[in-house]
Amino acid sequence: MTPLPPDFPNRGPAAPGTVYLVGAGPGDPELLTLRALRIIGEADVLVFDHLVSDAILSLVKPDAERIYAGKERGNHAVPQEDLNLMLVRLARQNLRVVRLKGGDPYTFGRGGEEVETLKEHGVPFEVVPGITAAAGVAAFAGIPLTHRNYAQACVFVTGHLKDGSMNLDWPGLARRRQTVIIYMGLHGLAHLCEQLIAHGLPADWPAAIVQQGTTPNQRTVTGTLATLPDLATVAGLKPPTLIIVGEVVRLKDKLSWFPEITA
Ligand code: SAH
Repeated sequence: MTPLPPDFPNRGPAAPGTVYLVGAGPGDPELLTLRALRIIGEADVLVFDHLVSDAILSLVKPDAERIYAGKERGNHAVPQEDLNLMLVRLARQNLRVVRLKGGDPYTFGRGGEEVETLKEHGVPFEVVPGITAAAGVAAFAGIPLTHRNYAQACVFVTGHLKDGSMNLDWPGLARRRQTVIIYMGLHGLAHLCEQLIAHGLPADWPAAIVQQGTTPNQRTVTGTLATLPDLATVAGLKPPTLIIVGEVVRLKDKLSWFPEITA
C-alpha cells in the first residue's frame, strides 16, 4: 500500500459505527481504489448491490456479514427507504459498515439519498469514489469519451424507462461534437435511437453498446443509430450494458486492446 502524506483526512483504518459508501468500480477488481480495497477488507458488515463482482466480494473478511441489497431491473431486494434505515441501524450497533455499490456511488447510484439519511440520523460516514462504468468502458473498449477532433463534451444520462418512455432533453442530446453515454439503456435502446434521429442526428451516426465492460464477458456491438437496436437484439447482450453515441465510437478499431468475447 502506498505511504500516504499524514495531512490527508480520513486516511486511517475503518472506524466502528461509521458507514463507508464505497464505489466498487465497473467489475475488474484491480480497478478498485486503494482506499476501497482497504475499507472493504476491514468491514464487519457489507451491504452490496448485484453489480458488485464475486472477485470483489471475496475481499471481505471471512467472518464479515454480507447483506444483498439487490437493484436488478424490477427486482429490488430491499426498498431504498428500508435500506437507508438499515445502514443507520447497523452503524448504531458499532459496526464498520461498508455500503458497496457498482461503479461510483454518486453516479446513478442513489448514494446521495443514503447519505442524506445518515446525516439526518447523525451517523458518521465517508464516501469513497469509484471508477464509473463510463470511464471503465471507455478505457477497456477503446472508445474515448472526448476527443479533440470528435467530441468536446460528454453527457451521462439514464435510459431507465418510466411509463414506457424516457424523459430526456432530446434536443440537448441530439447534438454533434459531443458523446452521449446512456446508463440503464438496453431496454429502451430502440426508443433512444429513434428519438435521437427524430431530433436531428443522422441515421448513420455511430453508436455502440458494451456488455459487462472490464470483465471477461466484455463484448461490444457497434453500428449506427439506425442499426444498433437490431444488432443488439440479435447479439442477445446481457446486462449490465452501457450505450455510447457519438463519433468517438469510430476510434474503437484503432484503440481497442482488451480481449472481448464475440458471442
Ligand atoms: N453507479 C454505477 C452505475 C449504476 S446504474 C456506476 O457509476 O457505474 C447501473 C448501470 O450502470 C447499468 O445498467 C449499466 O448501464 C451501467 N454499468 C455498470 N457497470 C457496467 C459494466 N461493467 N459494463 C457496462 N455497463 C455497466
